Amino acid sequence: MSDNMRNNVRDNMGHMNNQLTQEMRDLARELLASGEVKGLFGWTKGSRWYLTPPVFITKPEEADRLCYDEFAVNNLTGLLLDFRDSQDKIAVFVKGCDSRGIVRLVQDNQLKRENIVVIGVPCPGMGDKGAVTDHRQAQELPLLAKCLECRYPNPVLADRTIGAVTVTTEPSAAPSGATAEAAKGRGVGSKEADRFAQVEAIEKMSPDERYAFWQAQNKKCIRCYACRNICPACNCRECIFDSDKKNWVNKAATPTDNAFFGITRAMHVAGRCVECGECERVCPMDIPIMAMNRKLIGDLNELFGPYDAGVKADEKPPLGAFKLDDPEEFM
Ligand code: SF4
Ligand code: SF4
Repeated sequence: MSDNMRNNVRDNMGHMNNQLTQEMRDLARELLASGEVKGLFGWTKGSRWYLTPPVFITKPEEADRLCYDEFAVNNLTGLLLDFRDSQDKIAVFVKGCDSRGIVRLVQDNQLKRENIVVIGVPCPGMGDKGAVTDHRQAQELPLLAKCLECRYPNPVLADRTIGAVTVTTEPSAAPSGATAEAAKGRGVGSKEADRFAQVEAIEKMSPDERYAFWQAQNKKCIRCYACRNICPACNCRECIFDSDKKNWVNKAATPTDNAFFGITRAMHVAGRCVECGECERVCPMDIPIMAMNRKLIGDLNELFGPYDAGVKADEKPPLGAFKLDDPEEFM
């Protein structure tokens, strides 16, 4: 891409982001001023050009803090857990991948659907801030791996939308709405078919090689629990890794205890992981967490038939329901 073309893409993206940000602020102001919601989760501009972290606002005059751009990467749905015991109605902005987190939380009885106003937004694909080399100047960034592998670029459910995004539960639907062209041009979903490639590569290793591979990852883990905390499927009220009861697991970050943590986390979200990729994105130690999640997703698809968690609210998760013809070779 020539410098001129790159500048045009950036200009168009900037213009589009301004429009979406304006729509976002207008809708937030309306919802808060009318009293329809008590609070709203969105994104705001952070302290650097490549940071657009979450924000929670409760007053119409705070709506101008909202911002939407290619760094509004956080899946906000897990933050709704702060309101799981509240009767307050809360609004939340969701991109396609994020929206599956709402279905997850409602299916897990963590949220009442009627207490949430889901606002669907079109997604241009999120930039990889890990590729930032110049901290003072905007630059063209590659997309995050999770956006290249995205299968649901459009919200699977929404009460309101901005940017003319289409709501659909169709897997692999093309990105829609105001950012559709940008998303396509930047490659959103272009590597969807490769999303099990890492699992297949690991499966080809010998048992010893596989053990060595995962032990090397387990050694890196610092047990910061960022992967667990960001996850809409990791929603137990008390996590065993926070328990002060002795003998569950040591708090020290040793490879053995880290392995126990990693495997337990993955097993707890088996059949429920919505593939938002947030766990891997937030891991400060670059541990390939999605490989573990996708191994389980692939195995469940093989055993129980194709299933995408967090898409259809009335579809029972494979491990959350019993059928007479369920496989049971291990019994
Ligand atoms: S985010 Fe990474 S380092 Fe932190 S607990 Fe999870 S796997 Fe370990
Ligand atoms: S395990 Fe990771 S990819 Fe799956 S729902 Fe949780 S944060 Fe998202």
